Amino acid sequence: MKTSAEIRQSFLDFFAERGHEVVPSASLIPANDPTLLFTNAGMVPFKEAFLGQEKRANPRAVSVQRCVRAGGKHNDLENVGYTARHHTFFEMLGNFSFGDYFKGEAIRYGWDFLTGTLGLPAERLLVTVYETDDEAFAHWRDDIGLPEDRILRIGDKPGGGSDNFWQMGDTGPCGPCSEIFYDHGPEIPGGPPGSPDEDGDRFIEIWNIVFMQYDRAADGTLSNLPKPSVDTGMGLERLAAVMQGVHSNYQIDLFRHLIDAAVEATGATDRESASLKVIADHIRSCAFLVVDGVRPGNEGRDYVLRRIIRRAARHGHKLGQDAPFFHKLVGPLVKEMGDAYPELAKAADEVERVLLAEEERFLQTLASGMQVLEQAVANLPAGGTIDGETAFKLYDTHGFPLDLTADIARERGLVVDEEGFGREMAERRAQSRAASHFTAETIKIGTDEPTVFEGYQQDSLAATVVAVAREGSQ
Ligand code: ATP
Ligand code: MG
Ligand code: MG
Ligand code: MG
Repeated sequence: MKTSAEIRQSFLDFFAERGHEVVPSASLIPANDPTLLFTNAGMVPFKEAFLGQEKRANPRAVSVQRCVRAGGKHNDLENVGYTARHHTFFEMLGNFSFGDYFKGEAIRYGWDFLTGTLGLPAERLLVTVYETDDEAFAHWRDDIGLPEDRILRIGDKPGGGSDNFWQMGDTGPCGPCSEIFYDHGPEIPGGPPGSPDEDGDRFIEIWNIVFMQYDRAADGTLSNLPKPSVDTGMGLERLAAVMQGVHSNYQIDLFRHLIDAAVEATGATDRESASLKVIADHIRSCAFLVVDGVRPGNEGRDYVLRRIIRRAARHGHKLGQDAPFFHKLVGPLVKEMGDAYPELAKAADEVERVLLAEEERFLQTLASGMQVLEQAVANLPAGGTIDGETAFKLYDTHGFPLDLTADIARERGLVVDEEGFGREMAERRAQSRAASHFTAETIKIGTDEPTVFEGYQQDSLAATVVAVAREGSQ
């Protein structure tokens, strides 16, 4: 059986042997892109090379990039604990061609790695191409020899966009893509890509090969890029599940060890509990965000980190653990990933300290908040709604981020009145603005010091929270 570490290494070796420069993982905080919350794909650090703004000595690169999808355009936070294949933090294996090889070679490399190097059975694989991409279709059929019924053409979705046409943003480089799926077998519910029940977990997407072929102008028209490029991404955890003969990512070596550690730290009695998966997932995103300089706080990235730590803490509470436990998973995580990420091993003490402090902070209000919540839901019928006033009280007095309350509601078949929450928040903003004007006036009378607008912090916090609430509910 190949371990996650061995698979990671064989991917790098395969492409290094084929002339690719091995590039270390960049930070989760994108270097030159304030518009992007977190590095969410392997191509992010290479964005400028694709745009032609950066010339690289070697037009081929390979990387294992740490990624977080817990906010912004890609947000899988709500999927964690519910699907077999989504994490907030994962490692993306990727090979890249900056104007060097294109469709034929990219498809050939992908196929050879999976079926040759890793020895996956070809009959378990199926691929998609963009509806009109006859070229990619022909490569799969004629070069690789895949039967036509295992090459699915996927078009645009009714609401716009397509799983098989990738774009960086509204303008810029973009192109059709071809995705490789693994069939985990008929005993698992779910249909092939493009079918009505494609969201099931039978056919799991393992690799996305993007053919960066066009430049999209502001008016929407496409022109050919002078140098077509390739950007690929494959989730290490999904590939490890396939290679280790298990269906869920949470059953791979790395996650089994983290779940063992979570069982020990929480004293959980049911090893199959979804809460353990959530905790095992969240320790990775939280630890690596701290490694990359994020600290729990009330805005932007900091607030995302705070939200994820608090979700983990709440799941521990649900498992019956009332003392801080989450920071105890840092050691086991370092054992799993410290070799591949020396920066994690180096920062371990600091990570533990930051997580413990945030746990302690939240534990002061978690139990009382849960009491408020239990009272509020005691008489709600199935499908009922937790009112905005309660959600706001939980947020304001007990430190429950809105998505945390929504997470608890969902477990119980309830929903939260997020609009009502937003109204409460807006009211609070108005009040604090009025209060701060009053304070400002008062200060002016007695002193020559410049006035401080105390309402600002609360204001931007409110905007963030409401935005986050909307995002989480999409
Ligand atoms: P899905 O449709 O399953 O949500 P995706 O189409 O959003 O995946 P891509 O953006 O194409 O994923 O990313 C490339 C690859 O990264 C995927 O094929 C998958 O192997 C992996 N991947 C994407 N999102 C996650 C995640 N949240 N957790 C683990 N692996 C992921
Ligand atoms: Mg996705
Ligand atoms: Mg997909
Ligand atoms: Mg995809």
